[in-house]
Amino acid sequence: MSKKNEKVDAKELAKKLLNDRTHGAAKVGAKELEKADAFCEGYKDFLNCAKTERETVSWAVQAAEEAGFVPFDPQKKYKAGDRVYYNNRGKAMCLAVIGKKGAKEGVRIAAAHIDNPRIDLKPIPLYESSELALLKTHYYGGIKKYQWTAIPLSLHGKIIRKDGKEITVNIGEKEGEPQFTITDILPHLGKDQMGKTLSEAIAGEDLNVLVGSLPLTDGEGEQLFKLNVMNILHEKYGIVESDLISAELSFVPAFKAVDIGFDHSMIGAYGHDDRVCAYPALKAICKCKEPEYTCITVLADKEEIGSVGNTGLASEYLNYFVADLAAAEGLEARHVYTKSTCLSADVTAAYDPNYASAYEAGNSTYLNRGVGLSKYTGSRGKSGSNDANAEFVAQVRKIFDEGDVLWQIGELGKVDQGGGGTVALDISRMNADVIDVGVPVLSMHSPFEVVSKLDVYMAYKGFKTYFEAK
Ligand code: MN
Ligand code: MN
Repeated sequence: MSKKNEKVDAKELAKKLLNDRTHGAAKVGAKELEKADAFCEGYKDFLNCAKTERETVSWAVQAAEEAGFVPFDPQKKYKAGDRVYYNNRGKAMCLAVIGKKGAKEGVRIAAAHIDNPRIDLKPIPLYESSELALLKTHYYGGIKKYQWTAIPLSLHGKIIRKDGKEITVNIGEKEGEPQFTITDILPHLGKDQMGKTLSEAIAGEDLNVLVGSLPLTDGEGEQLFKLNVMNILHEKYGIVESDLISAELSFVPAFKAVDIGFDHSMIGAYGHDDRVCAYPALKAICKCKEPEYTCITVLADKEEIGSVGNTGLASEYLNYFVADLAAAEGLEARHVYTKSTCLSADVTAAYDPNYASAYEAGNSTYLNRGVGLSKYTGSRGKSGSNDANAEFVAQVRKIFDEGDVLWQIGELGKVDQGGGGTVALDISRMNADVIDVGVPVLSMHSPFEVVSKLDVYMAYKGFKTYFEAK
C-alpha cells in the first residue's frame, strides 16, 4: 500500500508489475523482422520440397551432411563438437552435437514431428466407376474431411516392388505434371449434403480421388478405364496392381508455400504442423558448434496418429540413441535422462478472431508474439498432459529472455473446448524435464495452414539459444 496522500504513478507501477503487452513486432524492431523474412525464404523452399516424413528425412540428411554430420556409430568414441545423426528407416531421425560436458550432466533435446495429416491410399485402391478412374483412400491424422474436397492434390510416397526395387513417387508438384482431386457435389444439387452436420457431410469412404477419365484406346474387354490408368503407371514405374500393396502413397495438397497478407508477414502452406518446428530445430542443431551439453534434435514420425509404430516416439529409437551416447561415455542412459531436458517442439493454436468463442483470450497464443510455450496440453482437466514443472518453466523462460527470444505462453483453447497432445509424454516418461514449445498456427490441420514469419524465426532462435545456453 502507498503512503497516505502520495500519488501513485500507475503507468510506472504497471510497467514494473504487469506483463508487457507490447506487440511482438514493436518489441523486436525492424532488424529482427528482416532476419525473420530471410529465414522464412529458406523455410518456404523446404516446405515445397519436403511434404512427407520420407521427403523431410531425405532433405534433412542432405542438410545435416552439408553441416558436417556423419552417420552415428555406436562403437565409436566421440569428442566435444562431433556431429552425428541416426536415420530411422528414412522416416525419422535423431541428430546430435556432442557437448563439452558430454552426456554426464544430461542432454538437451528438441523434438519435432515430420508427419502431417493427409490422404493415404488403401492397399487395393484403383477402381473405375461410371467411366471414371478413382483411388480409394484412408485418411491419416485428424482432418476435417470437407476441407479436402475440390482442392488440387499431389501424390507422394514409395512403392516397393515384389522384386525389391524401390520406386519413389512424387507427381503433381512440378510445372506441367498432372494433379488430382476429390470431387464435391454442386450446391444446386447439394440439398441432402447441406442438411447434414459438418462431420457427416463427407464420409471417409467418399474421399475417392479422381485419377483418370479415358478408357484404354482401341481396347476390348472389361474395366478399360481402370486398365488405362494401370497401363500408364506400368509404363512410368514398371509396376503392376499388386505392387500397390507394398507401397506407402499419400495425397497431399499441391499448393506451394506463399506469403499471406499485404504486408507479407505470414506464410500459408500445407504441413506447418509440424514442419514449422522441425525446420527451426534442424537449422538450430546444424548451427550448433561446441555446446556445453550434448544437444539432440529429433524429427519424429507418426505423431499425428499417436506416435505409434517404430518410427513414432513411443518407439525406443530415441532411447537407444541416448543409451548409445551414454554408453560411449561409460554412463547408464537412465542417469543421463534424469538430468536431461527437452523442448517438445510442436505447434499450438493461434487465437483466431473468427472463432473467438473457442479461445480464452487472456491465455491464448497470438500470431507475431513469438514462439509459444505451453506448460500443459491435454483435455478435460489436463488429462493426458505432461504439465511441465514450474522449476523447468522458470529455467526455459530465463534462457529465452537472456537470448532475446520473443516468446509467449498460452493454452490450446478454452478449458472444456477440446485439447490435444504431443510427444512430450513419450520423453517425460524417461524422467526428463519436458515443456511444449512451438509456433502458433491458424487453420491447423487444414490443407492450408497459416503462421507468422516472426514466430517461425523466434522458434529457431529459441532452439538455438536453448542448445547454446550454459
Ligand atoms: Mn503437431
Ligand atoms: Mn497435428
